[in-house]
Amino acid sequence: MREKTRGSREIVRSTISVKYWLVQMPSVAAVRPACCPVCKAASSPVGGRIVVQGHGKRPRQGWGPVVPRAPPESLALTVRRYRCIECRALTTVGPSETLTKRLYTASAIAWALALFGLLMTPRAIRELVSPLRIWGTTSGARWQTLLRWAGAAAAGRLFSTVREMPTEWSARTVAARVAATLSACTLPSPEPPPLDVQAFHGAALAR
Ligand SMILES: [Zn+2]
Repeated sequence: MREKTRGSREIVRSTISVKYWLVQMPSVAAVRPACCPVCKAASSPVGGRIVVQGHGKRPRQGWGPVVPRAPPESLALTVRRYRCIECRALTTVGPSETLTKRLYTASAIAWALALFGLLMTPRAIRELVSPLRIWGTTSGARWQTLLRWAGAAAAGRLFSTVREMPTEWSARTVAARVAATLSACTLPSPEPPPLDVQAFHGAALAR
């Protein structure tokens, strides 16, 4: 039986932010992963042929504001795909803010959680973060998406730098911890911006 084509389910995050990615999509060579994430073969061995080859583009969405307090958008991004000639795995590479299986950007989610940790109401956060303008009548005070993010972060399934948290922690406590961890990923600055802004930028830099 032939082995099925394997694909890496994880999106590989490049170091290029959504902002720059939208201005000019990076070339195949610019964001080629250093090695195949599945079989670990080197992408461009010295003196050899390219192993992880460009394999077209795919549409992908990036929801949320591009910078804190900018109007939330639903950005239509194009991400790059690569194919490994050793193991045939397909790999997708996107901007630094892309998260596997999430419509919202990592920065938008981190910012939302930071604001929640700072006691802002879910309704107010939703208005700042969500590009959707029509809401069901029941979703007024609670924003389930926000609680789901907190749950995923607490289980260690959202940001790889954020460690698993005790199950008895409240969503707000989890959100505050996520913000603290991600804000520590920003570059040191003599006049650091507020914590929520640091979390926004830290999410793109966190690895
Ligand atoms: Zn491979």
